[in-house]
Amino acid sequence: MERFDHFMARANAAYYAAQDPFKNFTTAPELTQVFGEILGAWAKTVWQMMGAPENVILAEAGPGRGTLMADALRLWPRAQVHLLETSPRLRAEQAARVPNAVWHESLDTLPDGPLILLANEFLDALPVRQFVRRETGWHELYVEDGAYTELPADIGLPDDPVGSVREINEAAVEFCRKLAARGAVALFFDYGPMQSAPGSSVQAIRDGAYADPLQCPGQADLTAHVDFAAIAACVENVQGPVKQNAFLTGLGLFQRSDFLARKYPGKARDFALAAERLTAPEAMGSLFKAMALCPKHLPRLPGFEI
Ligand code: SAH
Repeated sequence: MERFDHFMARANAAYYAAQDPFKNFTTAPELTQVFGEILGAWAKTVWQMMGAPENVILAEAGPGRGTLMADALRLWPRAQVHLLETSPRLRAEQAARVPNAVWHESLDTLPDGPLILLANEFLDALPVRQFVRRETGWHELYVEDGAYTELPADIGLPDDPVGSVREINEAAVEFCRKLAARGAVALFFDYGPMQSAPGSSVQAIRDGAYADPLQCPGQADLTAHVDFAAIAACVENVQGPVKQNAFLTGLGLFQRSDFLARKYPGKARDFALAAERLTAPEAMGSLFKAMALCPKHLPRLPGFEI
């Protein structure tokens, strides 16, 4: 018997180590170079707001193919960057696009100093604990022989109706807490609601189709919606969340896409379609949010002024 979040962590580690995740989903940096470029310009601006410290560390968590960082570095070239990646397979892909990288298993081995960390669709891959409300109180979900089982849980959750499910993103909160404790600036993009909501958001995608999260661990991509409100409640100095379309539009997604479309007429349609997909509410514009961690002494960061 294994607690659900432990099962999810193990399944995803096996999945990212052995499978090509990009056959199951397309992410913002894979849609258009403009996404990474905006984040590179954002990071450079934030560094200037920090007083342009020479020893700044630029890092990314869960860099996938390394596309975001490669695009960001065109706008803000750095001698060295730090990538948090557990999958050896993806590290090799990242090395092809970001040759000047140093890899880390976790935040703990990043060098000391002012830190700017970027992460797209990273927090949603982190494991969640799941609880279900029974007559006798909250129970936590476990996995045994490919099926759910549950045990009574001593956990402070709202008094939801019997049958309700709640999730706790303990790993995501812990990750953000560690960053906040070292005074880092971090920028996260992920999908999730503005307000915490009950219900299970865990999804498994296998070979491009929805699958049962408990079957074939390691062959499906397991994700959960990111509970930004819960992170903001547990971590100091959060800015946002704001909708992805507000953030990207405010920082010039369409202007940069138009510029590149004129420069490379053969790809004009791709740039336009990608910008549309990143911002249309029915596509990725509204469900995806941007959230930042930022030490108190800094003003509002670009994209979070509202
Ligand atoms: N940011 C990329 C990839 C998103 S997929 C993009 O937008 O295209 C999630 C990424 O997080 C993968 O690179 C995966 O290997 C990595 N990852 C998942 N869990 C991780 C963990 N616990 N520690 C470090 N990296 C992790």
